[in-house]
Formats: sequence, structure tokens, C-alpha cells
Amino acid sequence: MSERRPLPRVTVETDLLWSAATRDELAYQRCHACGGIVFYPRGHCPRCGSLDLSLHTSAGRGTIYSMTTVRLHPDPYFAGKTPYVVGLVDLDEGFRMLAEIDSPIDTVRIGDRVEIFWESDQIPHIPLFTVVAGIEARGNA
Ligand SMILES: [Zn+2]
Repeated sequence: MSERRPLPRVTVETDLLWSAATRDELAYQRCHACGGIVFYPRGHCPRCGSLDLSLHTSAGRGTIYSMTTVRLHPDPYFAGKTPYVVGLVDLDEGFRMLAEIDSPIDTVRIGDRVEIFWESDQIPHIPLFTVVAGIEARGNA
């Protein structure tokens, strides 16, 4: 795989997320007006509009809510990775994010427990997840 991963565009609005990512920290916020969890971190609460937000770091553990296997991709970098799994991960702190699940595709299932790790060869670092409790925990079910 000679291509390099295309990187996200860091804007004023996404800088809190990607600055933390480059410290290998998954940032999220709590809204002190409505109690909501805000992800990605931003300037105001998307539920109530409040600016009264505090910034926190996720432990990076969660459960796969949904997933798909990518088998075709127009970008040369991602084409070189196919087939791979992309999932919606419910983090234990109460937010959901889309990310690659970097585990063998036939071992990943909805409901699996996953843990974050960071791809750090470029800036910003990229959050990926790996299955930590899957087939073994499910037994033969
Ligand atoms: Zn709010």
C-alpha cells in the first residue's frame, strides 16, 4: 500500500477534535444547559444552542451499533485497504461515531466491544477501532 491516507480537512469548527486527536485523545463535550453529550466538539450545543460546554476525553471504548464492509472505493488509498469494515461505534460516554474497525472482516459483528487506537504517521492522527471482545465472547452463538 504505497498511497497515503487522505486526511480530514481541519476547520475552525473541527479543530477541537483534530487537535486532541493528534495527542491521541478522543475529545467530546458535555452541555451544561441541557445535559447533552456533544460529538464532535464544537462551538455550541446542537440540541439547545448553549455555549456552556466542557471538553472531555473519551476512554475510547464502545460497542458496534452498525457496520458495513467496504469492498470498492474510488480513492487509491482506500481501494488498497479493501475489503475493510466501517462501523458506527457507540462510545461508553454516550456518543456515536463513524470509524474504521481494523479487525479481520469475518470477525466483526454488531454488538462487539471495540477499543480505539491511533494511526499516527500523519497529522492529524486518525482514530481507528479494533475488536476486543467478539467471537470469543459470543461462543458458538
Ligand atoms: Zn445543550
